[in-house]
Amino acid sequence: MKSTMQTTPLLISSMLRYGSTIHASAKIITWTGTGSRTTTFAEVGTKAAQLAHALRGLGITGDQRVATFMWNNAEHLIAYLAVPSMGAVLHALNIRLFPPQIIYVTTHADNKVVIVDNTLAQPFSGLLPHLKTLRHVIVNGPISDEVRAALEAPEHIESVHDFDTLIADQPTSFDWPEDVNENDASSMCYTSGTTGNPKGVAYSHRSNYLHAMAVQNGLSIRQGDHLLVVVPLFHANAWGFPYLAMISGATLVMPDRFLQAEPLATMIEAEKVTGGAGVPTIWNDLLQYLDKNPVDVSSCSMLMVGGSAAPPALMHAFKEKHNIDIIHGWGMTEMSPVGTLSVPPVEVEVGSDDYWRYRTAQGRLLPGVEGRLVGPDDDLQPWDGQSVGELEVRGPWITGSYFANGSESPAEQAEMESKFHDGWLRTGDVGTLTADGFLVLTDRAKDVIKSGGEWISSVDLENVLMAHPDVREASVVGVPDDKWGERPLASVVLAEGTATTVADIREWLGDKIPRWQVPERWAVIDEVPKTSVGKFDKKVLRARYAEGGLDVTTLG
Ligand code: ADP
Repeated sequence: MKSTMQTTPLLISSMLRYGSTIHASAKIITWTGTGSRTTTFAEVGTKAAQLAHALRGLGITGDQRVATFMWNNAEHLIAYLAVPSMGAVLHALNIRLFPPQIIYVTTHADNKVVIVDNTLAQPFSGLLPHLKTLRHVIVNGPISDEVRAALEAPEHIESVHDFDTLIADQPTSFDWPEDVNENDASSMCYTSGTTGNPKGVAYSHRSNYLHAMAVQNGLSIRQGDHLLVVVPLFHANAWGFPYLAMISGATLVMPDRFLQAEPLATMIEAEKVTGGAGVPTIWNDLLQYLDKNPVDVSSCSMLMVGGSAAPPALMHAFKEKHNIDIIHGWGMTEMSPVGTLSVPPVEVEVGSDDYWRYRTAQGRLLPGVEGRLVGPDDDLQPWDGQSVGELEVRGPWITGSYFANGSESPAEQAEMESKFHDGWLRTGDVGTLTADGFLVLTDRAKDVIKSGGEWISSVDLENVLMAHPDVREASVVGVPDDKWGERPLASVVLAEGTATTVADIREWLGDKIPRWQVPERWAVIDEVPKTSVGKFDKKVLRARYAEGGLDVTTLG
C-alpha cells in the first residue's frame, strides 16, 4: 500500500527558512576579541539571500562548489546555509591542513569561489597561485592593499570582492529552488588524511537534516540555549550545530579566532553560555584556566566533547567543580559526524558508579544509527559489554562511499572501497556494545598496542595517566620491543612547577592497571602534538621516537 503522506524534501533551505522566520530573534554572537557583535536569525535569512544572489552573479549554478576558509563567525554560518539552500555545495576548508592537502582538497572538489576571513587572507594568498580551480575570492572584512594585490595576482583569479560590499545591494529574499533532490549533495568535508590523500565525503540535504534533528534531540537543545561552538565549522559539519540552531532557535556564540581558554571563559561568562561543543583538549585547557581564575560559568550546564576519547578525570572535574555535564559523543567525518551521545538512562542514580560508567562510555547509538561488532574472523560479536570487535555502522547520515572525481589511482580506489563491508562502514574503531546500545571504545584499530599477544588499550592508559593530579596531558603509543613485539611508551606533560617525576607516576599507576600494562618507557614533553582538529597526534610521537627525538627514560 502506498502511503498518503506528502513527499516534501528535507532541504537545508527549509531549515534556513524556519530558523530565520520562526526563530527570527535568535542570535549569532561573534566574538571580536574585546566584546561581541550580534546577527539575528532574521538577518541570517536576509544575508543568506543576498549572498546567494551575489554567488549567482559570480556564475555559481547547479551543484558547483563554494569553499570557505574561515573561523567560526556569523558570515561563515551565513555561507553554510546560503550555499546549500541555492542548490550548490558548501566545502568548508580546514584552515589547519598542511598546504599540499589544502591544495589537494580544493582542486579535488573543483571549488570555484572561496570566501576567506580577512585575518586569514594573507596566508591564504600564498596558497592561491596553486588553487587553480578557483575563479573568485570573497574576503570577509577589510584587508590591506598589499594583501588585495596578492589575492588579485594569480592569472586564474577573475575577481576579488569584499563580502559586505558584494552583498549590500542584492535583494533580501531568494526563491530557494524547490526542485533540489533531498539526496543531492549539500556540503562536503574531507577526512584529515592521516595516511595518503584526504578522502571526501559529500553530505546530502537529507542526511544533514536528519542528523541535526537527532543531535538536537540527543543533547536536548532548545530555544533559549546559548551554545559556544568551539568545534570549527570545517571539522565534520561542526557536529550539526549550524543546522540544529536553525531548527531549535538556540543562539550560537562563535569564538572566531579567539580559541584560547581565557577568551572562551570570558565568552561563557559574558554571553551566559548554557552549553558548548569541542574536542577534549579545548575543555581540558578551559578546566585548568578555571582552576586558577575566578570566572562565573554557572550558566553552563553541558559541554559536548568528541573527536577523541574524553578522559574520565575531565568529566569528573567539570561535574564536581562546576556542575557541568560533559556529554561524550563519538563519530566520524563519514557519519556527519555524530553516532553516539553519552546520556545515561534516567533511572540511573546521578553520581553512582553506574552513572559514571554510562557517562564515560562513548555513548548510546542515536536512533537512525545501526551498529554491529565484527570480530577477527568476521564473526558478529554479542552486545554484552564484554565482547570486543571492530564497530561497523550504517544509517541515513552515514556515507556509503567516498567522493571520487575520476582522478584516483587504482590503489586509492581500492583503499576507499575497503572501508565498506556489505553496505556497512568500517569505522576502524574497536570496542564493546552493551545490550542497551552503549558503545565503549577501547581504541582505534591502529592505536591498539599488541604486547606479547595481548592487547593494551592506549586510551585506557591515557585516561588513567590524566587522572594523576600532576599530569596535564598524556599520550601513549606502541613502540617496537624485542621481547614483547610492542610495548607502550608514555609521553606526559607535567603540571607547571611540580616536583613529581615519571618514576612517581609509574609507581602510582601500579595499583590502577594490570602490572603487565605499566609502561617502561617514559618521556616528559612540553605539549602533546595535535592534529589539525586538535586531537592528540600519535603519528608525530611515533615518528619522534623512531628518529630518537624523544628523551626517553626506561624504568623497571
Ligand atoms: P580523522 O579520522 O581524520 O581524525 P574524524 O574527525 O572523522 O577524522 O575522526 C574520527 C575518529 O575519531 C573516530 O573513528 C574515532 O577513532 C575518533 N573518535 C571520535 N570521537 C571519539 C570519542 N568520543 N572517543 C574516542 N574516539 C573518538
